[in-house]
Amino acid sequence: MMSGLLRVLVIDDDEDDYVMIRDMLQDLEAAPVSVDWASTYETGLEALRQANHDVYLLDYRLGSKTGIDLFREFKSQNGNAAIILMSGQGNESVDMTAMRAGFSDYIPKGRIEPLLLEHSIRYAIMRNLMDAEQRLAAIVESSHDAVIRLDLDGNIRSCNGGAFRVFGLLSPDYIGRPIAIIETPESAGAFASLLDRVLNGEEADRAEVSALKIDGEQIVVSAQVSEVRDELGNIEGFSVIAHDITELKNAQLQRDNFVSVASHELRTPMTSILGFAELLITRTESVETWQNWAGLIHKDGLRMMGIINDMLDVTRIIEDKDLHREPINVLAALAKTVEEARTQVSDRMIILKGDSLLPDVDGDAEKFMQIFSNLLTNAIKYSPNGGDIIVNANNDATQQRVVITVSDSGIGIAEEDQNNIYKMFFRAKREETASIVGTGIGLSIVKRLVERMNGKIWVESELDQGSTFYVTFPIEASMSDPSLEQVKQPA
Ligand code: ADP
Repeated sequence: MMSGLLRVLVIDDDEDDYVMIRDMLQDLEAAPVSVDWASTYETGLEALRQANHDVYLLDYRLGSKTGIDLFREFKSQNGNAAIILMSGQGNESVDMTAMRAGFSDYIPKGRIEPLLLEHSIRYAIMRNLMDAEQRLAAIVESSHDAVIRLDLDGNIRSCNGGAFRVFGLLSPDYIGRPIAIIETPESAGAFASLLDRVLNGEEADRAEVSALKIDGEQIVVSAQVSEVRDELGNIEGFSVIAHDITELKNAQLQRDNFVSVASHELRTPMTSILGFAELLITRTESVETWQNWAGLIHKDGLRMMGIINDMLDVTRIIEDKDLHREPINVLAALAKTVEEARTQVSDRMIILKGDSLLPDVDGDAEKFMQIFSNLLTNAIKYSPNGGDIIVNANNDATQQRVVITVSDSGIGIAEEDQNNIYKMFFRAKREETASIVGTGIGLSIVKRLVERMNGKIWVESELDQGSTFYVTFPIEASMSDPSLEQVKQPA
């Protein structure tokens, strides 16, 4: 009946019944059968948990309890097995309860005879296997990881719900499309080479692949490719299991960047502080010299304090629930910020331009100035060869927003860095930036502030030509016409 030894356990408190079933099964000639016996509810439950048998014949009567009680207890512990309920009652209600409870099969004890028993056992095992397959399919479907089946050419044959969550691949729409549609230009061919490695019998380790979601977002996945074989053992395709590790990679990058910032920006001033402090302790010099050293310590202390405050600022902006909301007079606030920047660099032209009739922006005026003060500092820092810096504020009435730009003609930002500059501790790694001090925190503060004020920020830049940062803030419909604003806000 089955290939190999069939292991049967009879759970029955009547030894005569066990002996009858055992003899009946051992007389079957088709396959070798071993039949064991559990005589109580407890030993039966324990044997089910051990899962050492292919099929369980469970008596309805088990002392003061029933086989259905035992079955339910086993199921409640997530147990799965091929279990057949036997009952001497020939009772319809037991019948129904058994099938509803989910037994693999049910036989009335009085009617047990060899062929029926054999058939029932075979059916119960099959049904349990099918249930197991369905359970597995449900697990795969609900997995958070993407599970994608490919044919031999690397075209998608099926994908689970996780493939939608990770890549945006919706099952019927992408069937037949090549897996390469989720590759980025840089990772082109990555999946093909993973499939090749599997075909060549190489060890299929997990591989990090940068991938493109259907909506265009770039992510990083850890992917494992395995072969899928048909019944004859021939490779008929592949399975790809992919886990989204984008956040993990970002966190790692941030940690690495932090280490680099900490070692340059915090260690350098600290070394100088310690050096001058040591001089103060060990050397007796004139008061002027001492004051000079103390001044240097103070200056580096301030620099470190600035960096630490910036770091704390980032978390504060996220946590600060009540940012001020007030009407900000854009040109006045920009004029003040520009004025401050001019005092820091006397040799540079900072020009403020814009519509004279600008509607107010709703937000926190102090934070508004912090945004532009940061952008101006960067514009100055990253244009070491000089050139004018232009701040321009305009009313974009069609889109109901105010657009403010800060432009420099400095070193520019490479295209691949343009998305990264807002990340905490990110600094472009170029010869030109090596000698410019910075922590990579400023723009991450700027972006968070802009977004807290419902605005947007982006940059247009070309290497060695310069950069223009765009910041926009929405304006209330009724406020986009400044003449109306006068009416709305009587003096
Ligand atoms: P920091 O200037 O302290 O390094 P920011 O967060 O302000 O940090 O800027 C992040 C990075 O973006 C800088 O390290 C620099 O590489 C780049 N960057 C920012 N502003 C400009 C600009 N105006 N021109 C060129 N590169 C810029």
